[in-house]
Amino acid sequence: MSQLTLTDARVLTPDGIREGDVRIADGHVVAVDGVPAVPETDSPVEDAPAEDSISLGGALVVPGYVDLHVHGGGGHDMAGSAESMARAVRFHRGHGTTTTLASLVTAPVDDLVRQLSWAADLADAGEIAGAHLEGPFLSHARCGAQNPDYLLDPDLSAFGRMLDAARGWLRVITIAPELPGALDLVDAAVAAGVVAAVGHTDATYDETAAAYDHGARLATHLFNGMRPIHHREPGPVLASLDARVPCETINDGIHLHPAVLREVLARGSDKLVLITDAIDAAGVGDGVYTLGGQQVWVRDGAARLESGSLAGSSLTMDSAFARAVRDGVPLEAASAAASANPARVLGLDDRGELRPGARADLVVLDDAHDVMRVMRAGQWVTGDNDRHE
Ligand SMILES: [Zn+2]
Repeated sequence: MSQLTLTDARVLTPDGIREGDVRIADGHVVAVDGVPAVPETDSPVEDAPAEDSISLGGALVVPGYVDLHVHGGGGHDMAGSAESMARAVRFHRGHGTTTTLASLVTAPVDDLVRQLSWAADLADAGEIAGAHLEGPFLSHARCGAQNPDYLLDPDLSAFGRMLDAARGWLRVITIAPELPGALDLVDAAVAAGVVAAVGHTDATYDETAAAYDHGARLATHLFNGMRPIHHREPGPVLASLDARVPCETINDGIHLHPAVLREVLARGSDKLVLITDAIDAAGVGDGVYTLGGQQVWVRDGAARLESGSLAGSSLTMDSAFARAVRDGVPLEAASAAASANPARVLGLDDRGELRPGARADLVVLDDAHDVMRVMRAGQWVTGDNDRHE
């Protein structure tokens, strides 16, 4: 049985920050020992150092990040090949993402079937938590960077083929609820145990609310790729905020104003979910890339199609988290948005929080909330080559 104690840590737990030790055995958190950080009279408890112990020098430890929505990173496009999907996952792991859904943009169904089988292989190997289909049942009017050539009206038999290809690992599908047959597709997703998400949609408030009534329970990058709020037709944004569902947000300083992030949070601490929506450009820099067969220009970190439409991001979860805190989101709420809330979407109750019994997924942060070390299932992540290539 492998055991490890992280000493002199400031640990973000469900009960607030505690100063002390994290004890880990067999890939799981056994205990978080220590005293709450707030009272100033008591000094931290000093246990005798364990056989395998590492001092973190007072660094902050937060739960590993859970990214529900990512297309690539480190120069690797998840839709490119099984190998590039695996390498994109490893790139983001170096930035603190310990649980990943592989997100697949709209493509011909045959291509999606092949990509889903790669995701299923990676999930079988314990590398990812499954796949997110962003399409092809999305709105032409709000397709953003989804290739309009391959958008389809909801089609249960196409959905069935993709479901089979994913071998139980299709976890989320984004659907535009105003399309003909969309509610039947929501029903089919719910019946199959797949999270139906509302996104890339021109739906009205009522059409969106109907999807949530049918069991949809996530909003895909709220505000982006959907009809904006109008005071007489508040559309999918307010319908998603009113429904008891978490809302994905792309917090890269480009897709959303920070006041919008705080507004989502004001609807409840379980409401906000940070995602990257990253494409292969993440971690590489400005240049020309492709997404779903379309060319994407990345300039000053903003990824756009020739039309000017935003095309994913070059974000990583550590940046999304650090930016949220800088933008005035309390540390506990930012951590919930990066870890516990998305873990709950996936029904993964063994992660998202640092408490006894949880998988030992954690991120050690410096004072600027940049990543110093990452641990996944009790193992230190060593993806240096992936982080810098
Ligand atoms: Zn996306």
